[in-house]
Amino acid sequence: MFIIWGWRAVMEVLGLGLFHCPTCQQDREYRHVRPRRWFTLFFVPVIPLQRLEPFVECTTCKGTYREAVLEIPTTEQLEHQLGLATRAALAHVVASAGSTPRATEEAIRRIGAAPGVGTYDEARLLVDIAAFTDRATAQRYVATAARHLSPAGREDFARRLLGLAEAWGPDGAPVTDPPIDALAAALELSPAHLAGIRQHASTGSTGSTDGAA
Ligand SMILES: [Zn+2]
Repeated sequence: MFIIWGWRAVMEVLGLGLFHCPTCQQDREYRHVRPRRWFTLFFVPVIPLQRLEPFVECTTCKGTYREAVLEIPTTEQLEHQLGLATRAALAHVVASAGSTPRATEEAIRRIGAAPGVGTYDEARLLVDIAAFTDRATAQRYVATAARHLSPAGREDFARRLLGLAEAWGPDGAPVTDPPIDALAAALELSPAHLAGIRQHASTGSTGSTDGAA
């Protein structure tokens, strides 16, 4: 009579979901697991031993990562955040400066062209204007999205705001400056940086062209 004994790690699955895999550089399915060592008798785990460090595994490339990887938003979440921030910022500018037919039309067009928004119309704009009249609320949504934007992405966002401001007048409508400055601060752009973007936009564009969507 002989006894076969040993140890093996058994994976306890803590959760499944979608994450942004650093290796695949895409949204992938993951397995969040916590290994536990077991004492085995005839290959059957019989005595649980210590728990090991939990980790996240990409089910596509099989790469394993620390749990902190789940804090990185997925592409879908990023788009959603960016769409929400665009709605908050542009609706706030309209709420602050007062809506005119041209401003309403411009805001609907610019928000509808942003990623993660989908179909956008006047009814949705009215709801957003009511929701984002408060400056601190609008700034919070912009700051959340800005955390994951590159410097170029933040400048692009500011350009969208400056472009909308033109809807109130031919030269940037001073009336909209306070909300734009506040939203630029939420984008972590200094007043000097914003002035540079504004100047570049006015000298770099041809007359009344309002930029690509
Ligand atoms: Zn992967």
